[in-house]
Amino acid sequence: MCYAIPGKVTAIEGKTVSVDYFGEQKKAINEIVNLKVGDYIYAQGGYVIQTVPEKEAIEVLETWKELFFELRETDVRLSRRPAEETGVSKTFSLILDKAAEGRELSKEELIALLKTENPAELDQLYKTANFLRQKHLSNSCCVHGIIEFSNYCKNDCVYCGIRRSNSILNRYRMTDEEILAAVAEAVEKHGFKALVLQSGEDPEFTIERLAGLIKEIKKRHAVLLFVSVGEVGEDGLNKLYAAGARGLLMRFETSDSLLYSNIHCGDELEERLSDLRAAYQMGYLVVTGGLIGLPGQKDESLLNDVLLTKELKAEMYSFGPVLPDGPKTDLVLKVLAISRLIDPKNAKIVVTTGFETLDPDARRKGLLAGANSVMLNVTPLKYRQLYNIYPKRAHEQETIEEQIRTTLDLLYSLGRAPTDLGI
Ligand code: SF4
Repeated sequence: MCYAIPGKVTAIEGKTVSVDYFGEQKKAINEIVNLKVGDYIYAQGGYVIQTVPEKEAIEVLETWKELFFELRETDVRLSRRPAEETGVSKTFSLILDKAAEGRELSKEELIALLKTENPAELDQLYKTANFLRQKHLSNSCCVHGIIEFSNYCKNDCVYCGIRRSNSILNRYRMTDEEILAAVAEAVEKHGFKALVLQSGEDPEFTIERLAGLIKEIKKRHAVLLFVSVGEVGEDGLNKLYAAGARGLLMRFETSDSLLYSNIHCGDELEERLSDLRAAYQMGYLVVTGGLIGLPGQKDESLLNDVLLTKELKAEMYSFGPVLPDGPKTDLVLKVLAISRLIDPKNAKIVVTTGFETLDPDARRKGLLAGANSVMLNVTPLKYRQLYNIYPKRAHEQETIEEQIRTTLDLLYSLGRAPTDLGI
């Protein structure tokens, strides 16, 4: 989706550049040599990914300008926080007032938010999260694409449909040419500026092969690349970063080490966390989070998951329900809203495909409860339904064009701009 808005470089200080978007100043990391003040650029995830010729930039800005401000007005209108709501307890209201004022909430207060089932209180919680999202991050909503290139996995996680022991699943592995063609279609035809390359832990895709693919993609296209291929260790992360990957999508699934070990066949949570911490240190944008609705999962544990996501300095929070017997929609929305309350100024919070599978209206509900990111599935249709991590996944049969159309309709109706302006 060609949804980055060109920005004008106004200052360069080492690797950090200041960028002007319609009068608003943002920061981005630059890796392009010879970039000068006055150049126009596209940035994604806080990285400059491409310079844009001035004439082209001015044309794009002209077409965007009016829409940009119209959308912002709609968003401001939809994200107002009503002063008082009937049916909301005084204590609950005071906690939300405190969050809205930017004060940190205690664990007890956050648990009280997570425990409520009262519809009026839930409504107030979601509105507060949406208010904070608008206040700090305005109306930009990142739209990334995801290509699922192999459904082979050497692991056997109990909750996952592509686990090794699922012998009835038809397995596929895209060839390097097919992956490059899918990337080309997403970037050049549909204008995606950020893509996730995802697979199970497939031994056929060695680090060397993945690094080769990433280098080739970076040579051909201006795109921010995330990898989501499971645990590859520090050495693997270093090699993929050197090849050009700048994002890592890997959930820790749960902050409860015993629960983690149970669902991950005895693996150690600490090993996964150590990869995530190392990735952040290397400069990766980290996308992480957990599963909602694991058997035996307590509210305290879910809250710890959100707090751990913040501690890991996640660029994007990714929380999805365990499927097919997922939790209630409101539990997922509460986790999204609380994520926003805990990390109001920085978090990108994605409405996951899992949530969309649980509730067909999840995207709208999530975006109105603090979320500001969506991912479109740009895997070729013939493979998409085989990436069966849970049954009947949302968007399994939709073409990329259909997904873009419905996403834009929804974003525009909510006053959101499908852009990633960074912070
Ligand atoms: S959750 Fe990930 S690592 Fe576990 S079986 Fe599924 S794809 Fe493999």
